[in-house]
Amino acid sequence: MYSSLISKVEKAKRYAEEPQRVSFESFDVRFRGDNGSHRVSLKGDEWTCECEHFHTSGLCAHIMAMQRLFAVNLNKAQRFTTEHVPA
Ligand SMILES: [Zn+2]
Repeated sequence: MYSSLISKVEKAKRYAEEPQRVSFESFDVRFRGDNGSHRVSLKGDEWTCECEHFHTSGLCAHIMAMQRLFAVNLNKAQRFTTEHVPA
């Protein structure tokens, strides 16, 4: 029993050194920006942020920062969200 737990811990340590094993499918985070705190969400390939800039252009510094922070854990579509040009 105990040795089995040790082998799980060893495996966890090895996994933790290989972050590319993890791909995010969804999450919600609280992002503390310079001018306030905003909830940033990812669902599938769709990002949302509650900040003003996201609502007008579909992209913002908070999402771009998240894409850089977790690039290894995001698929191509999640990493390269493009700005919407308002009609
Ligand atoms: Zn934002």
